[in-house]
Amino acid sequence: MINIENGDPIVLTKALISCRSVTPQNDGAIEQLSHWLKEMGFKCDILNFKEEGTDDVLNLWARIGNDEGPALCFAGHTDVVPEGDKTSWSTDPFAANEIDGKIIGRGATDMKGAIASFVSATKKFLDERKNFAGSISFIITGDEEGIAINGTKKLLNWMDENSISFDDCIVGEPTNPKRLGEMIKIGRRGSVNGILTVDGQQGHVAYPHLAKNPIPILLNILNNLTSDQLDQGNEHFQPSNLEITSVDVGNKATNVIPQSASAKFNIRYNDNFNSETIEDEINRRLENFKNNFSLKLEHSGDSFLTKPGKLVSDLSEIIFNKTGINPDLSTSGGTSDARFIKNYGNVVEFGLISETMHQIDESVAVKDINDLSEIYYEVLTKYF
Ligand SMILES: [Zn+2]
Repeated sequence: MINIENGDPIVLTKALISCRSVTPQNDGAIEQLSHWLKEMGFKCDILNFKEEGTDDVLNLWARIGNDEGPALCFAGHTDVVPEGDKTSWSTDPFAANEIDGKIIGRGATDMKGAIASFVSATKKFLDERKNFAGSISFIITGDEEGIAINGTKKLLNWMDENSISFDDCIVGEPTNPKRLGEMIKIGRRGSVNGILTVDGQQGHVAYPHLAKNPIPILLNILNNLTSDQLDQGNEHFQPSNLEITSVDVGNKATNVIPQSASAKFNIRYNDNFNSETIEDEINRRLENFKNNFSLKLEHSGDSFLTKPGKLVSDLSEIIFNKTGINPDLSTSGGTSDARFIKNYGNVVEFGLISETMHQIDESVAVKDINDLSEIYYEVLTKYF
């Protein structure tokens, strides 16, 4: 464990990367973060969440300040995805070596660099303004890259039970495709998986009248599911999309009508729908096929949009002043823990560059971390 010293975000990034916190492993990452925040005067709670059949996960809630002003929180995760084939890396994935102005390591951009920037920015702000009106808090989980059961969702629940709330939240996920400043995420699409199964009756292809082939029925159903666009999109979202991802019969014979056929699909839907109305739409499209199929739906997050307001416009302006780029306000990409946080307050996402995340030789430019840290610092000074 190292001390915060002057809060250099590069030093902090390297210290976090050196913890092998591959989900659900923590390897000291949460404790290190908590140690720095305590040195800065934060009240810290390390929470161990558990659930039968899953691994225990450490989470961190930390807060400094008072109730005399707005509450801003930084959110993120200290866990990382596995390093993959170690021999393909050009350096040890947990050594945080600096090569040609870049720190290479698992979690460098997703998202230990951003967490280090949160801490560094907060340190600089507090060194200048010990007595500000309001509060800064940290919502940090070790369960984002995994099944996300013992993570942010439970932490938010715990906050609710303890009557802790916040107004605005910045999630430090890597939002920029190539260059720092390109993209703020102000919402995410919802996602639902479906498995459709049609049961027929197995039989000999030469005696089709004695069998019932499920395949034409399934094709018909899929045709109905996909024939019309779900919507046209809107000002902030691309059109909702239904994608068939698999059609399975498992038939190895050429002379047998199979017993059953199934298909999988995924829908990424915008805020024209929610998890209920998207189900209604699916059911409406399948109405004519009642009793011919069974359907299992699995939701993994509702759509949401943070209406552009002061937080978004301030952040955009600060980013432009620092990078010269006017950030896109985007709702693209996969889901993140913002899907849970949006139920409790305004949430926007802005972090590092997504290009190398989850890859061999994940890396982050030293300059980008320094710039991001300054952007977060400017956000704090403007916010309070
Ligand atoms: Zn991430």
